[in-house]
Amino acid sequence: MKIFDNIILIPGGGNCYLIEREQECVLIDTGMSKKASKLIKTINRNFPYKPLEAIILTHSHQDHIGGTEELRKLYKPSIIAHEKETPYIEQTKKLPSFEGFGGFMLKILEGMLGSPSSKVDKKVVDNDVVYGLKIMHLPGHTPGTIALVDVENQILFCGDIINADKKGKKILPPKKAYAIDYEQALKSSIKMLEVTSPSVILPGHGSPILEPEKAIKMYLDEYR
Ligand SMILES: [Zn+2]
Repeated sequence: MKIFDNIILIPGGGNCYLIEREQECVLIDTGMSKKASKLIKTINRNFPYKPLEAIILTHSHQDHIGGTEELRKLYKPSIIAHEKETPYIEQTKKLPSFEGFGGFMLKILEGMLGSPSSKVDKKVVDNDVVYGLKIMHLPGHTPGTIALVDVENQILFCGDIINADKKGKKILPPKKAYAIDYEQALKSSIKMLEVTSPSVILPGHGSPILEPEKAIKMYLDEYR
């Protein structure tokens, strides 16, 4: 699904975004492992002559990094993530296990899909800019969760820092069941919306919020 001429949303599980640039294309997140074939088809159909030069991972959850290894073998992109998230993506460290419903669901997913891992080639920190995207380190959902701001067009790729509803009208808070520190995750979501003025919000789950001004105001009024 084309959001703009140069941005394609590949939905299902976690949303992935394929960005076309002048010389190359870049992918944000890779969904669950079974999504790799869908991503490969989308890349080959839309940008057969532009190499997939980088995959930027917003965080280490398996519905965001599952397809990475398959794409890496095929296109040899540089895998980029925040330095604090890298050990969880490379699986040299494990995230603390969740209690309650979130932990139960993640265990089921892990049983079904295994726990994907990938080597990270480039570690980034807050305020770095890669491929025209500014990194915002906003921990809470996981220790090294990031959002990305397209510097030129103020498009906000927010991963799981907030959620969007199915209609793309309302901003929902981060999911408590999946956050390692919910209070911090909530603070991070507020900070993100206070310091950016996005023209569009492209979330990790739910529909794109194409006119976010009112939704941001409502969210900040309710949660700040
Ligand atoms: Zn997540």
